Amino acid sequence: MAEFDYDLFVIGAGSGGVRASRVAASLGARVAVAEESDLGGTCVNLGCVPKKLFVYAAHFRDDFEDAAGFGWSLGDRSFDWPTLVANKDVHDAHTLEVSGKTITAANILIATGSQPSMPDLPGIELALSSDQIFHLSELPRRVVVVGGGYIAVEFAGIFHALGVETTQLYRGPLFLRGFDDDVRKFLASEMRARDLDLRFETNVASIEKVAGGLRATLEDNSVLETDAILYATGRVPKTRGIGLEEAGVALDAKGAVSVDAFSRSSVPSIWAIGDATDRINLTPVAIHEGTCVAKTLFGGVDTTPDHTGVASAVFSQPPIGTVGPSEGAAREIHGEIDVYRSKFRALKHTLTGREEQTLMKLIVDRASNRVVALHMVGADAGEIIQGFAVALKCGATKAQFDATIGIHPTSAEEFVTMRDPV
Ligand code: NDP
Repeated sequence: MAEFDYDLFVIGAGSGGVRASRVAASLGARVAVAEESDLGGTCVNLGCVPKKLFVYAAHFRDDFEDAAGFGWSLGDRSFDWPTLVANKDVHDAHTLEVSGKTITAANILIATGSQPSMPDLPGIELALSSDQIFHLSELPRRVVVVGGGYIAVEFAGIFHALGVETTQLYRGPLFLRGFDDDVRKFLASEMRARDLDLRFETNVASIEKVAGGLRATLEDNSVLETDAILYATGRVPKTRGIGLEEAGVALDAKGAVSVDAFSRSSVPSIWAIGDATDRINLTPVAIHEGTCVAKTLFGGVDTTPDHTGVASAVFSQPPIGTVGPSEGAAREIHGEIDVYRSKFRALKHTLTGREEQTLMKLIVDRASNRVVALHMVGADAGEIIQGFAVALKCGATKAQFDATIGIHPTSAEEFVTMRDPV
């Protein structure tokens, strides 16, 4: 009889936990998974996937408008929020529950993810977090979005495109801190060009209920009347209350599980991946980390996750795609760099009349000629950058980019035809 009930017990059936479980099981391990909420975790139920469906919904507004330039005439258009909210829900009959039963496992994997974090201010209980936004029964007429990260930028864009009077407030001088400065400025100007009310150096002091909605009093004492306030002010690891500290697992000041390069915690039989470890908080990174843990434990190959060259997208309107450091960070890392930048109006918009621009930026380490970063703001940025991220992972040089023949006419070809550094 085995010493433990399971070889691996995974706490959290989000993207990372599910992947670790599946890989471990495929390598012959006896695996159990516990999930307190819905199978699939945040990404599938309250994050990336339903958000992307909302982004598609939002984009129809542009598509309907643009159709006219190509000769289409459309009849009356209307949008029904409850239909979108209902259609985005994906049900899965397979659920797993663990309650009141003692289970032993040779290894435990913490894949509990993160939860929204909101500042403590008067009336904050009247605000929504991104967890609630996917189940709003009615589309508000006016919304205030607080924050300047991925979620705030994406939801401000979705709401605005769905016809909601949208105001986004960010406390600093320019949102998307950590992204390339040109990208940040460019997106801000594109969002403003769409008449989205984007305010920097602005923060909420208090929120109260008033007849017909909510009133946000800002730190400069001005007020904003609105129907809903979304706080997208970061997420914190969800690691409290499951006995980790009692088991001797070291957590950092934010509550993230401290792990070594193999994702092993301070207790050798307890491992952690994904947002619970607060390394790079992106679904595909959690999936990669989960795969590595399973290979280390059951595949006979010690495998550390590779956190370099992780590409990501912000599904703003227009979207951002990025891989590698910002220009400022690249200068610090590599010293001498060459920067190539291009700004143009996509071919499609010659007929739509839309003034929307596309920005592309390529950064080269001068000493090695390697392309170390690509940044893009424009249609399909995520799709385009994903492909180029492989080239960067392989160490592609600028000379190899130059030797690559473009596909014409595309926006992506611009990345292989950039001739002169700025
Ligand atoms: P982020 O950490 O990206 O951004 C948080 C934002 O809130 C920052 O602009 C921050 O400002 C601001 N903020 C923090 N505290 C306060 C406060 N007290 N008052 C006012 N503003 C505040 O978090 P998000 O919530 O946007 O997203 C959470 C995570 O989800 C991210 O780590 C991201 O990786 C992931 N995600 C990824 C997506 C994707 O890949 N497309 C989509 C959505 C989420 P400051 O910069 O000044 O600190």
